Amino acid sequence: MSTPFLRSKALADVLGRQPKEVQLPGSRISEYYGTNVFNDGAMRMFLTEDAYRAVRSAIDRGERIDRRLADQVASGMKEWATSKGATHYTHWFQPLNGSSAEKHDAFFEPLGEGRSIERFDGGMLVQQEPDASSFPSGGIRNTFEARGYSAWDPGSPAFLIHRTLCIPTIFVSYTGEALDFKTPLLRSIRALDEAATAVCQYFDKDVRKVIATLGWEQEYFLIDESFYFARPDIMMAGRALFGHGPARGQQLEDHYFGSIPERMQAYMRDFETEALKLGIPVKTRHNEVAPNQFECAPVFEEMNLAVDHNMLLMDVMEKTARKHDMRVLFHEKPYAGVNGSGKHNNWSLATDTGVNLLKPARTPKENIQFLAFFVNTIAAVHAHADILRASIASANNDHRLGANEAPPAIISVFVGEYLTGLLDDLEKNIKGKMSPASKTELKLDIGRIPQVLLDNTDRNRTSPLAFTGNKFEFRAVGSSANCAGPMTVLNTIVAAQLKAFKAEVDALIRKDVKKDEAILRCIRDLIIRSKAVRFEGNGYGEEWRAEAAKRGLPNVQDTPRALDAWNGEATRAVFKAMGVLSDKELKARHDIELHNYTLKVQIESRVCADMATNHVLPAAVHYQNRLIQNVQGLREVLGREEGDNATATQVEIIRKISLHMEQVRLLSKAMTDARKAANAMADQRERAIAYCDNVKPYMDRIRYHANKLELLVDDELWPLPKMRELLFTR
Ligand code: ADP
Ligand code: MG
Repeated sequence: MSTPFLRSKALADVLGRQPKEVQLPGSRISEYYGTNVFNDGAMRMFLTEDAYRAVRSAIDRGERIDRRLADQVASGMKEWATSKGATHYTHWFQPLNGSSAEKHDAFFEPLGEGRSIERFDGGMLVQQEPDASSFPSGGIRNTFEARGYSAWDPGSPAFLIHRTLCIPTIFVSYTGEALDFKTPLLRSIRALDEAATAVCQYFDKDVRKVIATLGWEQEYFLIDESFYFARPDIMMAGRALFGHGPARGQQLEDHYFGSIPERMQAYMRDFETEALKLGIPVKTRHNEVAPNQFECAPVFEEMNLAVDHNMLLMDVMEKTARKHDMRVLFHEKPYAGVNGSGKHNNWSLATDTGVNLLKPARTPKENIQFLAFFVNTIAAVHAHADILRASIASANNDHRLGANEAPPAIISVFVGEYLTGLLDDLEKNIKGKMSPASKTELKLDIGRIPQVLLDNTDRNRTSPLAFTGNKFEFRAVGSSANCAGPMTVLNTIVAAQLKAFKAEVDALIRKDVKKDEAILRCIRDLIIRSKAVRFEGNGYGEEWRAEAAKRGLPNVQDTPRALDAWNGEATRAVFKAMGVLSDKELKARHDIELHNYTLKVQIESRVCADMATNHVLPAAVHYQNRLIQNVQGLREVLGREEGDNATATQVEIIRKISLHMEQVRLLSKAMTDARKAANAMADQRERAIAYCDNVKPYMDRIRYHANKLELLVDDELWPLPKMRELLFTR
């Protein structure tokens, strides 16, 4: 056997790489920002007055566009796209398998006799019927109604990628059920708008619309392409299933905010440029905690657009990485023992009058409004922590949640010392009927919520959901997730809570309680009711688990069980009441998530067994043979007695290798049996739980013995790039 080819080649490749600087399309970003988007500017230029107004009212007020105008919009879009070299168009949607999907059609249409035209009409813009039988539907799409339809979402502008006009769409079944992430997201945005606008009316009659805003922060790892190809686990499962931790991990924390390596910076500039042309307002880039881990964040946007932009950016990042001989890993935990990747979702609410409802202001009136939204959000999280937990559950994210470097699996809210004090005061001070003096006093207090809060908010990094001065930051979201999942849930539960709040306040007003007092009393009730979910301490600590249990907060460690919440009574009630997901759609989602989980663990387990058998064991045998030859040779040369002494170390290693090999073999066999047993289970949930409880643990045990072998075997013979190489060679 020669030295392992792929590993040594990979090392040589990586050491020889140079940064690939790209030519920027202009000296200022503003020159090319949004040039590949059919945005307001492009619409004004390419649409008739009528068509433009129709699209605007669809975007601003959700109004329908009639067929005649849709034809005009399509024609303008086609003109714009072909003027930029586009030949094809596609509906672009987000099926429940977690990626984005496209099916390209050419504008071109032959007319016969060698003639042809470019055609794109309203019908093609508004609806498509992709051959969608292979997208997950959770049983919604029976064979007789196997069709799925994609339908134009005018709220997110069309864009150009690789000479293809991409039209953001929802994806629904023949009978109208959601088969994607966008449909329920849009429904939840609408429900939240309605509920929040109604509450705003107490404070400002001019508010007509409330939009949810989202600013995500995308974490990721980069790996050189040659390493990637030499690691079947990373290639197939997105994470290293083997590998002894390097002597130096991230203890020094010198990577964080350190200078970005040149090669990575060239890559970032490249994908950011593509992103900016697509109108994705990326703004921040920096190193993350782990070696070769980075983060990218845009300016926040309206939520539907922000979600599309995140999906689009992940795609752009993947494609651009190849040009730089790298791969980007969005897996939540590519490497055991170093930090995983998340995608913080910064969530807030903005009125059409330009007010951030989660930002404390100068006057008592505005601050009562702030408190109403702030406290209602906390109450919603308290009431529906289980479905929020389910919304971030995935096989990948299980490696992060509950481990000692990521938010725990317990959903709690951090608000900081100042607001904790304020909520405590409110709890004590608002009693049934208030004297005018105490009212004035209270209003003064509320008016004092300082604007400087924004700069002073404590940064508790261990909380899954933290208030950070003017928004809530949901930190438990996984780096590979579609933000729409958790955001749909947050919007829905807050919408339901605001609606209940409005009803309670109105009931008090009907009993002649003054409006402000009614609002404050209801706020106080909520503060008391939801107190258990607020936690200011260390979310990683063992004590918190005990404390949370005492408070009755759910703490579900694994995905298959966390997903039960999709089927919970409270979930069904709010999702139905808010018109976001029907029972049938919820059940489908539950099934799909369970299935996704099973598939992920199944793939990992197969790759693990393959690599144990085809990479780890052969390397161990090879080295063991060398040792045996050496022992035999020494004994021959030195004679029995002296030979025994001189070979004691080798013999010891030979024994140890046999021992660990035996374990790897036995455990791989047992894992395969466990997989077979799980596969035989008919019930989706039982199967997922079997994968979680009976299959998954074997992977850690196999890894343990394989890593021992890695430490024993001659470095030259080890076929897999080692962790230190993956993390520190660049
Ligand atoms: P970090 O959490 O890393 O300290 P920042 O506090 O600066 O970073 O905020 C990060 C994100 O918060 C950015 O992506 C930004 O767009 C987003 N953000 C700021 N204001 C809002 C808002 N009103 N709604 C939603 N997201 C917001
Ligand atoms: Mg953050």
